Amino acid sequence: MGANFQLDMTTLIVARIMGLVVLFIGVTVMTLQRDRRETVLFCGALAMAVLGWAAIIAAVATHNSLITVLYAGFVTATVSLQGAALATLFGRRIDRAWFLLPPIAAMAIALLYRLQGADITLFGAVVLCVQLVWTCGFVVRQGAPFVRGRTSTLLVVGFVVSFVSAAMRFVGEVFWPDLIRDPLASGPANALPFLASYIGTLLITLGWLSALKDRAEGALAELAFKDELTGLANRRRFHETGRLLWLRAKRESTALTLLLLDIDHFKAVNDRWGHGEGDRVLRIMGQSIAELCRTGDLAARVGGEEFCLLLPGLDGRNAHRLSEQLRERLEECLRLPDGSAVRFSAGIAQAGLQDDSVDALYRRADSALYQAKASGRDCAIISASDSSRAVA
Ligand code: GH3
Ligand code: MG
Ligand code: MG
Repeated sequence: MGANFQLDMTTLIVARIMGLVVLFIGVTVMTLQRDRRETVLFCGALAMAVLGWAAIIAAVATHNSLITVLYAGFVTATVSLQGAALATLFGRRIDRAWFLLPPIAAMAIALLYRLQGADITLFGAVVLCVQLVWTCGFVVRQGAPFVRGRTSTLLVVGFVVSFVSAAMRFVGEVFWPDLIRDPLASGPANALPFLASYIGTLLITLGWLSALKDRAEGALAELAFKDELTGLANRRRFHETGRLLWLRAKRESTALTLLLLDIDHFKAVNDRWGHGEGDRVLRIMGQSIAELCRTGDLAARVGGEEFCLLLPGLDGRNAHRLSEQLRERLEECLRLPDGSAVRFSAGIAQAGLQDDSVDALYRRADSALYQAKASGRDCAIISASDSSRAVA
C-alpha cells in the first residue's frame, strides 16, 4: 500500500451493493424454498441489505432525511430477518411478525423526533447493536442441537464483527464527528466500520449456508438410521451404535445384555385385521419399548416384527424383568379389535467370555428366542450359555 492509498467510499459502497446483489441472487438460487419460511426470511434479509445501501447512496445524493430513515429501517430489518430465519431454523414457531418491531420502532422514533442525517444513522447503529447482541446470544444458547459447533462459531463471529462495526460508528461520532457525518468522506472513520460490516454480512451468510447444510445432513442421517414406522433405531444404527456400546462395556468391564423380542403370530394379525392394524401394533410396541428404555440403552427394530434392545449395565435377570414390564405395559395399552392382547417371545443373552462381538451375542439371544417360541411362546428365555457377568 502506498502512502497515498485512499479508500474511496463511493467506490466501496457501489462495490458493496454489487457484491450484495450477487450474494442475494446466489443465496436465493441455492436455498429459496417458498414452503420453508426460514429461507424466505434469510433471502429477505439480504434484499434488505441491498436496499439499505442503495438508500444510503440515494440519501447522500438527495440530502433527504426520509430516505435516511428508510436506510435505518432497511439495515435494522436485515438483522431482524436474519434473527427470525435462525429462530425458525432452530425450531421456534414465529406466528406473528414481532421481529419487524425494531425496524418499525427505529423508523417511527427517527420520524417522531425529527432526527436528521447522521443522527438517524447513529440512532440506527444503537438499535443495530442491541439486535446484534440479542441475535448472537440466541445462536450461542439455542444453536447447539440444530447446527454444528463450527457453524455456530461462524455465525457468532459474523454477528460480533457486525457489532464491532456498528459500535465503531459511536466511537467515530465521539472522535471524528465531522468525518462520520459525511458517509462518503474517505478515511478510516468511515472505511473501517464499512468494511467490518461487509465482512460481518459475508460471515453471517456463510454461517447460514453452513446451518442449512447441517440441517440437510441431519435429515439424511435421520433417514438412514431411523426406522420410519416406530421411530426407533434401524438395523444399520443398531450395528453401528451396538459396536460402540460393546467396546465401552469391554473397556469398563461392565455388564451388557441383549434382549431380542418377536411378536407372536403377527402374520395372523395382518391376515385377520389388515396391514394397517399390523402397523399400529408395531408403532405401539415401538413406543412402549422407547418408554421403558433408559438413556444410553439402544432400542431398534431389526426386522418386520422383531425388536432388539442392547442394555448397558444390565444383567440377564434384570433384562428379563424389563421384558416382563413390557409385557404388562402392552397388556394395558394395546388390544386387537377383538379385545385380545398382543403377545411376544423374547431371547436374552448377557455378554460374557464366550462372546467376541455383538453379533455373537445376537446369535445367542436369537437361539434363546427360538427356544421361547418352541416352548409355547409368550415368554422370555435367558440364554443357557450365559457364563460371566462381565465382558471379557
Ligand atoms: P411367530 O410367532 O413364529 O413369530 O409367527 P409370526 O406370524 O409372528 O412370524 P412370521 O415371520 O411368520 O410373520 C411375520 C409377519 O410380519 C409377516 C409380515 O407380513 C409381517 N410384517 C413384516 N414387516 C411388517 C410391517 O412393516 N408392517 C406390517 N403390518 N407387517 C409386517
Ligand atoms: Mg419374526
Ligand atoms: Mg413373530
